[in-house]
Amino acid sequence: MVIILKDNADPRQLEALKKWVETQNVHVHQSQGSHQTILGLVGDTVHIDIDMIKQLEIVEDVRRIQEPFKSANRKFHPLDTVIDVNGHLVGDGNLCVIAGPCSIESETQIMTVARSVKKSGASMLRGGAFKPRTSPYSFQGMRDEGIKLLLQAGKETGLPVVTEVMDISQLNLFAEVDVIQVGARNMQNFELLKELGHCNKPILLKRGLCATFQELLMSAEYILANGNDKVILCERGIRTFEDYTRNTLDISMIPAMKELSHLPVIIDPSHAAGMARFVAPLSRAAVAAGTDGLIIEVHNDPARARCDGPQSLTMEAFDHLMKDLTRFHELAKECKMK
Ligand code: PEP
Ligand code: MN
Repeated sequence: MVIILKDNADPRQLEALKKWVETQNVHVHQSQGSHQTILGLVGDTVHIDIDMIKQLEIVEDVRRIQEPFKSANRKFHPLDTVIDVNGHLVGDGNLCVIAGPCSIESETQIMTVARSVKKSGASMLRGGAFKPRTSPYSFQGMRDEGIKLLLQAGKETGLPVVTEVMDISQLNLFAEVDVIQVGARNMQNFELLKELGHCNKPILLKRGLCATFQELLMSAEYILANGNDKVILCERGIRTFEDYTRNTLDISMIPAMKELSHLPVIIDPSHAAGMARFVAPLSRAAVAAGTDGLIIEVHNDPARARCDGPQSLTMEAFDHLMKDLTRFHELAKECKMK
């Protein structure tokens, strides 16, 4: 349920209303827009008398929210959420590019890639230490040693680091990680999501292979409902009947999420395509559709990568793409304003 307040609502009456709502065992979230204040009520609101609230002097309107996702809903929070990661803003018209290898493989590898993507203008460094692999015989990641190397590369380059957690038991290793990634396969690991709701770090939540928009938003809701409001949604391709590409990039996720939610949306063209040569065109498509960012796999030697080599850009190709995207992003913003 949302309560839309009149302009210049008396602050004392507003406080009294909020206090009363809290006594109904419902949590209140106040959202201050440029010309509207909204109270979002989260919890069991069926017993709340809408007509009574509508009659209050400070209330413009009261509406029930039909969708099961509440805190993630734009109706609750009309303004876009902007997430600040050590001074790099995700949202607010910026194009945040996260780049790095699929997995951390050695000190030389992560350092070389980190320095290179930094020089090309990436905003953050990615690298997997815990890898969810389809086969138990594939490289599983460097685990705690990988996290240490990633943090070292982040410190040296000044880039915030993004890495995936697969299980609650690993979280103690993530204290210095800047953004925690939840992979597609873990999108509905509800116990993990609840735990991430209690940590005060941005969470990059990837869409599951077969998840609907609503299911993704319900997963985001688990994190938000447990107290963490810093969620970045990520489209990384879904399973369809098409098998020429690794997955099918669902570009409609961008306008759909902008409509349904206030959370920032980024696109992962690498896992969507599965082929390095498709990464640039898909990135441009995402920028044109209004993405808040991209997460791109880059390797110093893709042919020898221990994970996802075929979809990884060389450092040179990434540099080229960044130059292209900077121009493309300006153009996309201009077109949007017209
Ligand atoms: C990754 O980012 O390397 C990864 C495993 O991604 P996803 O969860 O989207 O497959
Ligand atoms: Mn990968």
